[in-house]
Parts: sequence; structure tokens; C-alpha cells
Amino acid sequence: MFSDLRSWSESESPIRLGIFGSPVAHSLSPQMQNAALKQCKIDMEYARFEIAPNELRDALNLVRELNFVGINLTVPHKIAAIELMDGVDNSARRIGAVNTVKIEKGKSHGFNTDGRGFSRAIREEFSVDLRDMRVLVLGAGGAARAIAMQCAKENCERLVIVNRTVEKGKKLVEELHDFFAGPKVLGPVPRLQAIPWEESAIRFQVGNIDLIANATPLGLNRADASPIPARLLAPHLMIYDTIYSDKRTPFVSAALEAGARGANGLSMLLHQGALAFEIWFEREAPLDVMRKALL
Ligand code: NDP
Repeated sequence: MFSDLRSWSESESPIRLGIFGSPVAHSLSPQMQNAALKQCKIDMEYARFEIAPNELRDALNLVRELNFVGINLTVPHKIAAIELMDGVDNSARRIGAVNTVKIEKGKSHGFNTDGRGFSRAIREEFSVDLRDMRVLVLGAGGAARAIAMQCAKENCERLVIVNRTVEKGKKLVEELHDFFAGPKVLGPVPRLQAIPWEESAIRFQVGNIDLIANATPLGLNRADASPIPARLLAPHLMIYDTIYSDKRTPFVSAALEAGARGANGLSMLLHQGALAFEIWFEREAPLDVMRKALL
């Protein structure tokens, strides 16, 4: 609740960083960022704040007044926050969402570290670079847009967007068109396309794809089915589920069942957080300590 932020501000703890979300109780960012602050001997604390959508504007004003160093934003604030910033970096503007706010001299600056966090996670999990990949992204919301933009920037070989609302996928593809103007892959399949979320359309793509990233909430609930069933997957695929968990997510289980490699979103959480730390403090983040704090 927003009242949390008011009372926290009066507490003796030097809370100067935090995450705004709703719900936010499950967030692992505090344990990861507090471990980093401690390791770097920075005398501040990072807290979680349950902020409703209609409280976001006031909450951002308050952290500016309280000389916070920065804020992370999670569901449902990433898109709404963009209009509330004093400045927004180009990449966050293009994605249309902010996940990291830096406060300097009473002004807020919006960034988005999800795309670069994803890229680092893929390198860490599968020892490959996005530029060599034919990528299929499930979703066209905030996380999917960050991932798709990053794939485009890194000049991946192919990019296919699969979204429940196909129009949203098509819009994203239009925005990325210029990145894929050159010929790169030989063969009959287009370098960039949006397809409907249908079994036959997905089955057709699998032979021309290396990496599938789930950027939908499917799997947040452990009773959810895998966003793509194991029978449509194949052993050559790398499966990355942005949903994080200390257990196998339904999508990772489906990958393993199909003989493919799979990883969940903990590594993306780690790297987007490390990049946020670097934006706030302009120094390298203690990655190993942050990783350990997530285990
Ligand atoms: P958004 O609400 O912006 O987007 C949600 C997307 O999922 C939309 O494309 C939506 O499709 C699709 N979707 C929602 N429900 C369903 C469904 N039942 N079936 C099929 N598609 C569905 O959310 P975000 O992009 O911000 O977040 C998505 C997920 O990414 C989160 O669940 C979170 O776990 C994960 N994430 C992980 C991070 C990490 O560091 N590991 C960082 C950021 C996000 P439609 O357009 O049709 O509505």
C-alpha cells in the first residue's frame, strides 16, 4: 500500500531503493539487491512497496522528494510509468516500458534492462549469442517487446512473434521491420513475421527456429499447462521461460520431455537487476553475490 511508503520514509533505515508492483510480495529483487548493497558496502536498503495503479504518480513523486537513488517497476506499472518520467532513454522509449528508474537531482530517468538482461541470460544458459539465433517469442507485452527489440538490435537471424492477440504481434513486427531489411537466412521462410497462436502455425516454425522464449504469464501458476506442449517441441531447441522459479516451470518440463534444453527466468532476473544496479551506482554489480542471494 502507498501508506507503506510514507511510513517507511519515517523509519530509521536508510531505504533509498525499492520495487513498486502489485502484487509485489513474491518479488526476489529485495534479497538480490540488498546482497549487492551489502557486498559493495553501500549503506542503503532496498524495499518492496505494494503500489496500486492509481498510486503510482504520487509514489514516484514521493521517492523523488525523499532522495531515493532508484526504483524498479514491475507488473502493472512498467508501461504507465513512461509518461511519468522526467526523461526516458531511447531504448525504453522504443520498448514502451520502464523497469528501472534512476533519480538524480530530483529528476526521474527511465530505463529498461529487461532486453539486455535477457541477452546476457541466454549467453549464460546456452553459451550462444542472439545474433546467431532464429528466435520465436511467445507474447507481445512489455517483456516480449524488450526481448524482441534486443533480438533485432543484435541482428538475430530470424524473429517470429506468436501472440494470442495476433494484431499486437503484427504491430510489433511492423515496428521492427527496418532491422530485418537485409537478407540473412537462405531459405523459404521470412526473417521477420507474426503468426497466430495456433498449433499448425507453431508446428510449421519449429524446424526453422533455434530458441523459443516464453514472455507470457503462462506457467506462473504451477497448475498451468506448458505454453507449447512437448509434442510440438524438438531436441534441437533451446527453451527459455522468463517465468522464474526454484522448481521446473511447465515450459521447462515440456522442453526436457522433448529432449531439448530449457532454462527459467532466474538468470534474466539476475542480469536485469545487475544492469539496474550499474545504472544506479555507475559501478560493476557483484554478480556472484547477487546470484547466490537468489538461490
Ligand atoms: P504483459 O501483461 O505486458 O504481457 C503479457 C503477454 O502475455 C501478452 O502478450 C498477452 O497476450 C500474453 N498472455 C497473457 N495471458 C495469456 C494467456 N492466457 N494465453 C496466451 N497469452 C497470454 O506482461 P509482461 O510482458 O510484463 O510480463 C510477462 C511475463 O514475463 C511475466 O509473467 C513475468 O513472469 C515475465 N518477466 C520476467 C522477467 C525476468 O526477469 N525473468 C522480467 C519481466 C517479465 P495478449 O496480447 O493477447 O493479451
